[in-house]
Amino acid sequence: MTLHTATAVIDLDALSNNYRLIQSLSPNAKVLAVLKANGYGHGLELIAKALPNADAFGVARIDEALALRAAGIVKPIVLLEGFFAEEDIDTLAANNLQTIVHNEQQLAAIVNANLDVPLKVWLKIDTGMHRLGINPEQLSDFYQALSQSKNVQQPIVLMSHLGCADDKANTATTQQITLFDELTADLPLEKSLANSAGVLLWPESHYQWIRPGLLLYGVSPLSTDVGIDGILPVMTLQSSLIAVREIAAGAAVGYGGTWISEKSTRIGVVAIGYGDGYPRHAPNGTPVLINGRRVPLIGRVSMDMITVDLGAESEDNVGDITTLWGKGLAVEEVAVFATTIPYELLCNITRRVHVQLA
Ligand code: PLP
Repeated sequence: MTLHTATAVIDLDALSNNYRLIQSLSPNAKVLAVLKANGYGHGLELIAKALPNADAFGVARIDEALALRAAGIVKPIVLLEGFFAEEDIDTLAANNLQTIVHNEQQLAAIVNANLDVPLKVWLKIDTGMHRLGINPEQLSDFYQALSQSKNVQQPIVLMSHLGCADDKANTATTQQITLFDELTADLPLEKSLANSAGVLLWPESHYQWIRPGLLLYGVSPLSTDVGIDGILPVMTLQSSLIAVREIAAGAAVGYGGTWISEKSTRIGVVAIGYGDGYPRHAPNGTPVLINGRRVPLIGRVSMDMITVDLGAESEDNVGDITTLWGKGLAVEEVAVFATTIPYELLCNITRRVHVQLA
């Protein structure tokens, strides 16, 4: 493979493998595959088309949903944050988009609309994350209003979101599941609670619909783990060495001269930087893979380049391929160095990064 600048190599077989594994963990549930933020940086339409068995797709913004429709995707699409403006309702109906409802404004807008075709609605209850969702005591009123509205396709789906599911020791998740069960026990509707961490750690949260995001892309949602058995990274972020230079002991490298060589060595300059989405805060020592070898990032990350210490004996050359994360170097590991989470690293991939199929 020749490759000159930052490239996200996307392995669709890995995606299919991960989808199958997720399904096997929850064989009776339908799968809403979460594709928001450009398919977690992997490419919205590309990922949607590579998931023919998904039962629905989840996005955050109407624009993402419309981009999927424009790409010919006809599967159900759910707006996971709902819609923001009253006038968007016509767009939802015209494009057969489903929406989450989590506040009074949305409820009023739906009930008072004049729609030819009813909307499919997911009612979001706050069971303890205290971000989006109606309060438990509002459930009865919202349910009545939605189930009686001619603008709503029946039956609705009940859902909530887990705030701490990545930590098996955290009792908040059990409390959320218990409350969700109590609130919805008398309602014979489809229900949904599990994100990726719920799929992995909390089988009692699976219900009729699971909503995996990160795990589909082959990345662990669990703060304690790098990698999950059988799950394969979908994105490998690569670039190439554009310079290999000898530097003397005592040379300061990069902006601010924040790294100074202790002895003479060879440094490699890799064509990737924060302009591509590589994290600017990645510190000295963040691993980078060159010719199967881990070498440390040194000096500050620039907009278009990073520098690595190849070592005095290195035989690496200009043009050699460099892996920033993916196969051979988990994005979870890089995220720990950059004091962030893999979600952010993946979503931050910018438009100038080439996308290439593995
Ligand atoms: N469900 C909802 C409502 C979400 O907002 C998200 C993403 O944050 C997900 C599911 C998927 O989460 P994850 O990527 O952790 O699986």
